[in-house]
Amino acid sequence: MNLDPKIPSGPLADKWTSYKGNAKLVNPANKRKYTVIVVGTGLAGGSAAATLAELGYNVLCFCFQDSPRRAHSIAAQGGINAAKNYQGDGDSVYRLFYDTIKGGDFRSREANVYRLAEVSRNIIDQCVAQGVPFAREYGGLLANRSFGGAQVSRTFYARGQTGQQLLLGAYQSLERQIAAGKVKMFPRTEMLDLVVKDGKASGIVVRDLVTGKIESFAAHAVVLASGGYGNVFYLSTNAKGSNVTATYRAFKRGAGFGNPCFTQIHPTCIPVSGDYQSKLTLMSESLRNDGRVWAPKKGGDKRSPDQIPEAERDYYLERKYPSFGNLAPRDIASRSAKEACDEGRGVGEHGLGVYLDFRDSIQRLGADVIAQRYGNLFQMYERITGEDPYKVPMRIYPAVHYTMGGLWVDYNLESTVPGLFVIGEANFSDHGANRLGASALMQGLADGYFVLPYTISNYLAGVSRDPVAASGEAFKEAESAVNDRVKKLLGINGKRSVDSFHKELGRIMWDKCGMTRTRAGLTEALTKIPALREEFWQNVRVLGEGENLNQSLEKAGRVADFLEFGELMCADALTREESCGGHFREEYQVEGEAKRDDANFAHAAVWEYQGEGKAPKRHVEPLVYENIKLATRSYK
Ligand SMILES: Cc1cc2nc3c(=O)[nH]c(=O)nc-3n(C[C@H](O)[C@H](O)[C@H](O)COP(=O)(O)OP(=O)(O)OC[C@H]3O[C@@H](n4cnc5c(N)ncnc54)[C@H](O)[C@@H]3O)c2cc1C
Repeated sequence: MNLDPKIPSGPLADKWTSYKGNAKLVNPANKRKYTVIVVGTGLAGGSAAATLAELGYNVLCFCFQDSPRRAHSIAAQGGINAAKNYQGDGDSVYRLFYDTIKGGDFRSREANVYRLAEVSRNIIDQCVAQGVPFAREYGGLLANRSFGGAQVSRTFYARGQTGQQLLLGAYQSLERQIAAGKVKMFPRTEMLDLVVKDGKASGIVVRDLVTGKIESFAAHAVVLASGGYGNVFYLSTNAKGSNVTATYRAFKRGAGFGNPCFTQIHPTCIPVSGDYQSKLTLMSESLRNDGRVWAPKKGGDKRSPDQIPEAERDYYLERKYPSFGNLAPRDIASRSAKEACDEGRGVGEHGLGVYLDFRDSIQRLGADVIAQRYGNLFQMYERITGEDPYKVPMRIYPAVHYTMGGLWVDYNLESTVPGLFVIGEANFSDHGANRLGASALMQGLADGYFVLPYTISNYLAGVSRDPVAASGEAFKEAESAVNDRVKKLLGINGKRSVDSFHKELGRIMWDKCGMTRTRAGLTEALTKIPALREEFWQNVRVLGEGENLNQSLEKAGRVADFLEFGELMCADALTREESCGGHFREEYQVEGEAKRDDANFAHAAVWEYQGEGKAPKRHVEPLVYENIKLATRSYK
């Protein structure tokens, strides 16, 4: 497997400029001769499809929702980072670059991250021009707030609905191109395989989720923007539909999978309330700007929070990390919450919760200001828990939120399959072992609006302009494999529901490959998951038929992929014998903090599929740091 990152030569700050200056171009009259498939209409896919069509390419765009604007990105709450330095508080491209590398615990590629920080500034201008209603200061300038892992305020936001507003911006650009006939949109259509012909990504096989029709589409290049796979844990803050199918099927067709075990656990989610639950709700990190996190000092303290005097409260983030306090990065804040609960100091019915308290900021700023900043989040919290956070502190607990792993890509955002590009949360990304808050929206839009349009043109300039057709052996084989699989799922007719398998897998993943991991636990998971998978293929009951809308069938296909992918995650976590960012191996720690092993693990682990029933092969891309010094991450 060729893992050449294709980083342009020259000084870090000049790489992207020089890349753009030297990239091959496609003449405007020739662009309409190329067709590009984009799978996904979230911030990454929506922005990419709109921009590629605006440039003149023909785009075929797919999503499984009924409308492109229902992509999971719409759920993003807190904000989007950009190195604008509007606050004059010391921000710069270099600082955003450095914070991102450090936040990711030195497990991402310098050149990509620098480019991300550089283009972050363009994103804000583009979105403002589209009419995205970012919050503004009293004088009309754009406002900022702070997010974890940074000491500057660089997060742009639209109340607690930033993802929704940004997605409406991308969506209206996409709709413009749909109306212009440059984008052909296929909602409610699920990609179920990648077609690789003559060694290049040449198309996809899809199932129409309404009619059940299975067909293929051909293109000169394929872009996957299919989001993250946090739902492998069953319970997560992701939309219920988010899944690994598109990227996992591409993996099985030869695309390397980078760092699959790198998962982000978000510290501020509404705690699990019972077994019946199928979804967890995030309380945005932005709340940590004004909310203070604490747990009772004494274990088993059952008093209501207002009865616990100041001296008996442990504001543990402020105590342990005085420089960053409540804005310590997510991995660190999550582990600290778990630690407090493991010590018996957790609050709420099950003892799995800590407080996020707005008492002081309401006293300081007034309830109106807090409502202006976080009104919709407070409302959401009250609707779910029945408690009023203006009066009683929120109860929060860590939950699975984001996946830093994904298909490996080089500087061009191209996977190990030529012609297959991967953007947004679906790629193994710029966030290393831990993503900083408000950086996913930045990356998705950077990829879609500003990076991919250059790099894919550079690729297409070298590809024949002849029309492509979904024909030939490769298409036939992929289509019949998809048909067979659908039939197989429907034919099992066993006794257990798809959800029961998903739940059981999620429990194994959370217990053995969740917030903390051990050699013994991962080894155990690696025997439990194959056994569960075997039972799935013998005993799952998929109701309904294949020729019409069948959500049970859709879920079954996704869960079947999770049952294979979960094993890959555990193998990755087992072989990374260090702790870094969100990957916390209990064997490797110093006083409760992650202990990296730079001598042996300063690399991206990239897995190559070896065929049914065979263990995948691990490769590495060494991470070379020329501009920053590897250091122990400290937020103290
Ligand atoms: C509750 C919540 C709040 C968040 N808040 C923030 C925030 O404030 N700031 C921030 O930076 N990040 C935030 N994030 C993270 C961020 O929202 C996501 O990382 C980001 O939106 C992912 O965008 P994406 O375009 O890569 O994928 P998605 O938005 O997940 O879109 C995936 C698309 O792919 C399509 N798709 C997937 N598989 C297939 C298939 N097989 N066939 C066809 N189509 C397919 C889907 O239909 C969809 O259109 C938050 C995440 C959550 C869960």
